[in-house]
Amino acid sequence: MRIAEQRLEKLMRRKELDAILFWGVENIRYLCGFTGSDGALIWAREGRIFLTDSRYAEQAKNEVAESSVFQYRRKIPEVSRVLKGLRGRRIGFEAGAVDFESYRRLREKLPRVSLIPLADEFSGLRAVKETEEIDRLEKAVRIAAESFKETILKARPGLRETAVAAALECRFRRKGGEKPSFDTIVASGWRAALPHGAASGKKMVRGETVVVDFGARFRGYHSDETKTLILGKPDAQTKRVYEVVRRAQEKAIRAVRPGVTGREIDAAAREIIGKAGYGKYFGHGTGHGVGLAVHEDPVISPRGKTVIEEGMVFTVEPGVYIPGWGGVRLEDMVRVTTGGCERLTYLSKEIKDNIL
Ligand code: ZN
Ligand code: ZN
Repeated sequence: MRIAEQRLEKLMRRKELDAILFWGVENIRYLCGFTGSDGALIWAREGRIFLTDSRYAEQAKNEVAESSVFQYRRKIPEVSRVLKGLRGRRIGFEAGAVDFESYRRLREKLPRVSLIPLADEFSGLRAVKETEEIDRLEKAVRIAAESFKETILKARPGLRETAVAAALECRFRRKGGEKPSFDTIVASGWRAALPHGAASGKKMVRGETVVVDFGARFRGYHSDETKTLILGKPDAQTKRVYEVVRRAQEKAIRAVRPGVTGREIDAAAREIIGKAGYGKYFGHGTGHGVGLAVHEDPVISPRGKTVIEEGMVFTVEPGVYIPGWGGVRLEDMVRVTTGGCERLTYLSKEIKDNIL
């Protein structure tokens, strides 16, 4: 985590901070290795202090590297006590992770300290992945993809969406996944027009398209992939929409290389969909970074200002959703290389391979 350490040191100098208080589980895990669900990490000039409660005290001693570990009974009073002990005057904190009530109580306990909210300053902190992180992401992708292949052998009209999701998620665990990255989306027929249509009790019907968005977590790292299946022979509109989304995804993936912005990658996909007349049916961004969180930097959307760097990992997932008809989304994860990118997800997105 050398790059992250250097960035934090620079940030502390620039903002004249005596310490930074980390509150969110993803950044805590990234910076000190703790895998539990609650704690606080104080990143100070003098050293690093990790605090957690009795449920995790033993685990923290084994996991946390390069930090002293303290156990608290009540989080805010104890974190405040340690911060007071540092005698710092300016403490930065993870504004996106500290809830308002905790912030209010921290301020009450630390009347002499300026608490400086940091949000954009952390953007991209975890965006460039190291080799070990890529290995975990690849393993997560493999667990999910192999589970998908086995599950889909038994998919047929008449089956409920929830049955497909349950079979998939059960296989994630059997293959070494910790849990699904998110509630598995299985959206068939008219429900495929809901971009986030978590599996329901609806039965799948011949002729429908089925959007399956799935991912598994492996050692903290998430995979995220979407396939659109067609149950039976696709009609003309299904073929047309599918091919538009596929071309949009290809074009966006080809646009990925160090130096471009997230916005430019998004525009590549949006242009194809817009020219085909489906612009108003593509409401979400083209992609997002993925790692310890399912959605993280960089943002690949019309608002994506981040300049893409080698080693970043993100999704490319354009879609077209037509109310009352259905939808198509295709999602792959890519890793940025010196001159372009490579796909981490490997299941085919060609229409001929997705007709059941
Ligand atoms: Zn997804
Ligand atoms: Zn996604």
